[in-house]
Amino acid sequence: MGRGPRYAQGSGSGRVNSKDGPKGTNTRLTGAGRRPEWTGPVVNPPVWRASTHLYPDTAALKDGGKANEDGRFFYGRRGAPTQWALADALTAIEPGAAGTVLYPSGVAAIAGALLAVLKPGDVLLVTDNAYEPSRIMANGLLNRMGVEARFFDPLDIDGFAGRFCDRTKAVLFENPGSLTMEVCDVPALAAIARENGAVSLIDNTWASPLGFPALERGCDIAIMSLTKHVGGHSDLMMGSASGGERWYRRLRQTAQALGQVVSPDDAALALRGLRTMGLRLERASATALALAEWLAGRPEVAHVLCPMLPGAPGHELWRRDFTGGCGLFSFVFASDEAQIAERFVDRLSLFGIGFSWGGYESLALPVDPAAIRTATAWPPAHWNPAHRRGVRLSVGLEDAADLIADMEQAFTDTRQA
Ligand SMILES: *Cc1c(COP(=O)(O)O)cnc(C)c1O
Repeated sequence: MGRGPRYAQGSGSGRVNSKDGPKGTNTRLTGAGRRPEWTGPVVNPPVWRASTHLYPDTAALKDGGKANEDGRFFYGRRGAPTQWALADALTAIEPGAAGTVLYPSGVAAIAGALLAVLKPGDVLLVTDNAYEPSRIMANGLLNRMGVEARFFDPLDIDGFAGRFCDRTKAVLFENPGSLTMEVCDVPALAAIARENGAVSLIDNTWASPLGFPALERGCDIAIMSLTKHVGGHSDLMMGSASGGERWYRRLRQTAQALGQVVSPDDAALALRGLRTMGLRLERASATALALAEWLAGRPEVAHVLCPMLPGAPGHELWRRDFTGGCGLFSFVFASDEAQIAERFVDRLSLFGIGFSWGGYESLALPVDPAAIRTATAWPPAHWNPAHRRGVRLSVGLEDAADLIADMEQAFTDTRQA
C-alpha cells in the first residue's frame, strides 16, 4: 500500500459482518462493529480525526474517487473507521438492514430520510402522535418543497387504507408515540402502505432495534435518535437511519449530497454507549414498570400510559410485537387543576427537568399533547375530558425505591400546596 495507511479497506460502512451469526442481544452488542482492520490490536477503534485522507500516488487518488464506496478511505466527509465501526455496529443489531447512515442528530436523521424518499408532488402520511419536530419538518420544509403532509390516527387501521391516493409515496410512524405512548399495529399498517406503493419510515427511538426490529415488522427505513439510548449518558447528539440495500443506497446518496457528517469523537462515545445499551434498557424498563405499577395505584393518577404495564393502553400489541421497552412513559392526573403537572414536577428532587431522555439519570416534564395534534383528539374521546394534564418520565438507572419515594413526597406536597 506504499505510503497509504496499513489498515485494510473495509467492505463497506455499516455493512453486516458475515461472521455475526444469530447470537443473543448482548453478545451482538459486544462484538458489533469490532473489526481488526479498524481497531488494530486494541479493543475499540481509535478516534480518527481526519479531513484529508492521503493517497500513495495519483493513480490511487483516481481510483479512490471512482470507487465511491463506504468503508474506504477517501475524504473526511465520508467518515473513517471510527464512524464506520459505529454504522457497522448499528447495522449488525438491525435485522434486515444492509447499511446504516449516521446524522448529526435524530432530527437530521428524520429530515435526511424523508428527503431521501420524497419529491415535489408527493403526499406524506404522518402519524398524529409524531414527535413535534417531525411535524414541523413535514409542515414546513417539506411543504415548501411541494410535499403535502397529511396526519393520520395511528390506531385507526380501517381508516388508514382510505388515506392513500396515487400521490402517497411515504408514511412516517412513531411507535409508541413518545408523548402519549399509543402503540399502533405497525405490521398491519406497513403492509397497507406497501400494497399502496408507499415507503414506510419509522422513528424507532423508543424501543431501538433491541425492542422492536422495525424492518422485520414491515418497515423500510428505521430511524433512531442515538442521542437517547445509544449515547445513554446525556453527552452527545446523533441520529441514524438503516434500511435494506435499496433504501440504504438512497439514504447514503442523500446524506452525502446534504453534507451530513458526525465527528469521530462523538462516534466513539456512541459506540461506547452502545456496548451497555442492552443492560441499561433492561434495567430502565424494569424500574419504569415498577414506577408505572405504583402510579397506577395512586388516587392522584387517572391513566398510566406505559405500554409495558399490563392493562395499560397498547399493552397487548406491545406484547405481540416488541421484545423490550425502555424507561420512557407518561401518566395523566385525575385532577384538572391548572399547573398541577408543573407543581408536581417542581417538587421532585431526583428527576431532572429537561428535554431529551434515555440517559442514565431520570427526567420529568409536564406534557400537553393537545397543543400539537390535528387528526385525533386529546384527551381521547372515551376518556373523562378532565383527564388531560400529564407528566412524562424518563426513568434512568437510580434505585426504584428512591424514585418512588421522591414521587410520593411530590404528590403529598402538590396536594398540600
Ligand atoms: C429526541 C427525539 C428525536 C430527535 O432526536 P435529536 O437527537 O434530539 O435530534 C426524534 N424522535 C424522537 C421520538 C425523540 O424523542
